[in-house]
Amino acid sequence: MIMGPVTCKFGGSSLADAACVRRAEAIIKGEPLRRFIVPSAPGKRCDSDKKITDLLYAWHELAETGLDASQPRDMIAERFGVLAGALGVDFDVQMHMDEISAEGARHTEPDYMASRGEYLNGLLMAQLLGAAFVDPAECIYFDEEGHLDPKTYIALGERLSGDGLFVVPGFYGVMPDGRIKTFSRGGSDVTGAIVARASNSSLYENWTDVNGFRMTDPHIVPGVRRIEELTYQELRELSYMGAKVLHDEAIFPVRETGIPINIRNTNEPDAPGTMIVARRESTEPVCGIAGRKGFSMITIEKALMNRELGFGRRVLTILEEFGVSFEHMPSSIDTVSVIVSDDALGNHGPAVLKAIERNCEPDRVELCPGLALIATVGQGMVGHIGMAAKLMGALSGAGVNIRVIDQGSSENNIIVGVEENDLEAAVRAIYEAFTERKA
Ligand code: ASP
Repeated sequence: MIMGPVTCKFGGSSLADAACVRRAEAIIKGEPLRRFIVPSAPGKRCDSDKKITDLLYAWHELAETGLDASQPRDMIAERFGVLAGALGVDFDVQMHMDEISAEGARHTEPDYMASRGEYLNGLLMAQLLGAAFVDPAECIYFDEEGHLDPKTYIALGERLSGDGLFVVPGFYGVMPDGRIKTFSRGGSDVTGAIVARASNSSLYENWTDVNGFRMTDPHIVPGVRRIEELTYQELRELSYMGAKVLHDEAIFPVRETGIPINIRNTNEPDAPGTMIVARRESTEPVCGIAGRKGFSMITIEKALMNRELGFGRRVLTILEEFGVSFEHMPSSIDTVSVIVSDDALGNHGPAVLKAIERNCEPDRVELCPGLALIATVGQGMVGHIGMAAKLMGALSGAGVNIRVIDQGSSENNIIVGVEENDLEAAVRAIYEAFTERKA
């Protein structure tokens, strides 16, 4: 049961056309506590369609290079024109397009232009719902470094006080010098969390086009179970490993005040979705399994490494000098491995190995590419006796060779590294073992 006001963020796929917007409207009107509405820009209506935000980026780029930007601009004008017409909302598309052209020309960064999809959709939704429109350019503040300024919560909280419905467009805020800045892609999720906190909402509903989180990738395990409930921490670990339903940074504003997030599906509004909470009763130790390809492992061997002062520091300094951040660093007495993502390593591999040979004088150093990492995540997993054994047993039963294991100090997570080609088989085997169900 909902106890207090609710913030509802609607993703681009849930606002792609008039029929979608009508569904969102029915959801909002169906519960008087749903009062703070955060829309994304309209997304794709079908696979071959373009997202409004992508068209805006294209518009900016063409205009910046001095080329004809009329194609994306006309497509945007037509989308909003059709949408407003179908919804019966009075909307002067031409006036908005002229304003965006003129103002956009004053900005070298794409942020202003990119933010206009949310801005226009917010104006449209506010009119449709008879809601107050709150422009983030006036109350979602970034500091000089581009981080959210906490004074936002007070300023935005004031703008959201009073009765009735409020619409706050997602994705952007304002820099100290008055320039518009966006969050990274998918950032309306972050705005939703900021609005939930500033408005003291008791719940943050994130409306999208899926029924919440699945225990693993449905492309690997068709019909995979939905996750009913998971903690902020479990979500962090799963999304770090590639489970993408919610923006990575969306939990931070709500986590501090413990506002739960409910991922819901606009196409199935009665389905309960997934709840993300501060604490949960764990009935089953494993809540999700996420895997990602594209890692390499640098393995360094040196007799008596454990006694050598500063060895680890020297290795990490080398990586730092090449600008390569590392993901994991499992070690034993005479070996240490550093796992890096291929994106981070780029083409620095051979030079990094040379530098390690020179500065650390190892007995052996080797770079092994083609690693996939799989995180098996669940609260208190590590504390449960037999979990690691079950995981390893499942992998050996599936004939998967484990190249590395990292249990870290998190109670929530066991990470194994396998050959990239084994990723799917490994995920399936772990899922079957922990759900005791054939996938
Ligand atoms: N419209 C933006 C994007 O496509 C932000 C969002 O949808 O959350 O990334």
